[in-house]
Amino acid sequence: MSRVAVIGGGAAGMMAAVAAAHNGHQVSLYEKNEKLGKKIYITGKGRCNLTNDCEVEELLQAVCVNRKFLYSAFYGFTSQDTIAFFEKQGMRTKTERGNRVFPESDHSSDVIRALSESMKRCGVNVMLESEVEAVLCGQAEGSADAAQRKEKAAHSSRIRGIRLRSGQEICADAVIVATGGISYRATGSTGDGYRFAQETGHSVTPLSPSLVPIETQGDWAKRLQGLSLRNIEIRVTDGKKELFRGFGEMMFTHFGVTGPLILTASSQIQKKLAGHPLDLYIDLKPALSQEQLDARILREFEAAKNKQFKNVLGNLFPAKLIPVMIERSMIPPEKAVHDISREERQRLVALTKQFPLTLTRLRDYNEAIITRGGVSVKEINPATMESKKVAGLYFAGEVLDLDAVTGGFNLQIAWSTGYAAGSSVMQEGTDH
Ligand SMILES: Cc1cc2nc3c(=O)[nH]c(=O)nc-3n(C[C@H](O)[C@H](O)[C@H](O)COP(=O)(O)OP(=O)(O)OC[C@H]3O[C@@H](n4cnc5c(N)ncnc54)[C@H](O)[C@@H]3O)c2cc1C
Repeated sequence: MSRVAVIGGGAAGMMAAVAAAHNGHQVSLYEKNEKLGKKIYITGKGRCNLTNDCEVEELLQAVCVNRKFLYSAFYGFTSQDTIAFFEKQGMRTKTERGNRVFPESDHSSDVIRALSESMKRCGVNVMLESEVEAVLCGQAEGSADAAQRKEKAAHSSRIRGIRLRSGQEICADAVIVATGGISYRATGSTGDGYRFAQETGHSVTPLSPSLVPIETQGDWAKRLQGLSLRNIEIRVTDGKKELFRGFGEMMFTHFGVTGPLILTASSQIQKKLAGHPLDLYIDLKPALSQEQLDARILREFEAAKNKQFKNVLGNLFPAKLIPVMIERSMIPPEKAVHDISREERQRLVALTKQFPLTLTRLRDYNEAIITRGGVSVKEINPATMESKKVAGLYFAGEVLDLDAVTGGFNLQIAWSTGYAAGSSVMQEGTDH
């Protein structure tokens, strides 16, 4: 039986702790907050989209960075395994649009409870308000067995344990770092794991906020603040090349744009946006071609020939959008509909199909769903999550340089890598 210390009581840490305890290890989990899973609590707007019920190939497609690295972890613990795990703990799940899986209760607290009870059942010692300050390593020791000696030579050092902020040192045969990223810091994810990685000789790739709202130029977004658009298509271009295209839902805020479609776009355009502003075009009626839309508007106009332009748009656009459409179409609001020229109508059609905004910059980590970048996966064994540099040291979850689009995929990364790490911890003295 090995002594395993898990750092972080988030998704990856709790799953790793359960997996290690199931294999008969003596597991302690250290969480700096006064309670477990503060970030899980706010996921999916409090409902927790805990995974995406799809095939492994689709999980892999949803990963933005270092897709191949996750092959083994995803096959080792699939989204169906995630669902089965929670159902086994007595938490019913339901699957919604886009294969998104939620607790049937719509309460993220049920996910935390299921993990917490599972840890209790398998004897994990949970230490709350226990901030880990450092992970402790020593020289890799020799081993009696030649094969083990050869393996150990690959590691420059071996884990010894951890030191808490209180100064207390705790010996461990294996340490699993599951400290998350640096987004929504109030949840406890303050980047400590990156420091632990660097202090033990690992590289950390550049960090940036991802799945994050985007600021726009001018006051159009502010005027539309609170408006949510469904079933629209967006395109982002750098003036010449299309960088992103997607269909779905978005929202306007006082500073710019957000919502699922924008968050997904943010993860794909962030490098370009760091260089210069980008063009966003919203197709408000993607189901209609330019000609079909023109015919539709013409029908509206013919049915209300003698009305003023400002009074005939109610069937076409949400109320909040109407004044903006009037202003941007440059058709006088008081103009009688029968006086609107073909050219003016064409302008309205063009604006509806390509409502333009200029994206200026991403919002910061406080509003980012995830942190892009992290512990370099080149230094981690993809089958076990063990460091290739320090024997007995494992990394799991968002602390690694891995991220995916929205839809339950980021939590699946946490479950799969947490499970891989926890179930790979070997018996003391036989670990590789
Ligand atoms: C608003 C929001 C909504 C989201 N919604 C979804 C969603 O619906 N579906 C989805 O798939 N993903 C979602 N995500 C992303 C998802 O929450 C994360 O990818 C996932 O929680 C990462 O899990 P983790 O265990 O790696 O890290 P975390 O959940 O961040 O857990 C890390 C834990 O480590 C603890 N810790 C840190 N440093 C130390 C230390 N030194 N000592 C002790 N403990 C420490 C922290 O307090 C924290 O509890 C959302 C994220 C946000 C911010």
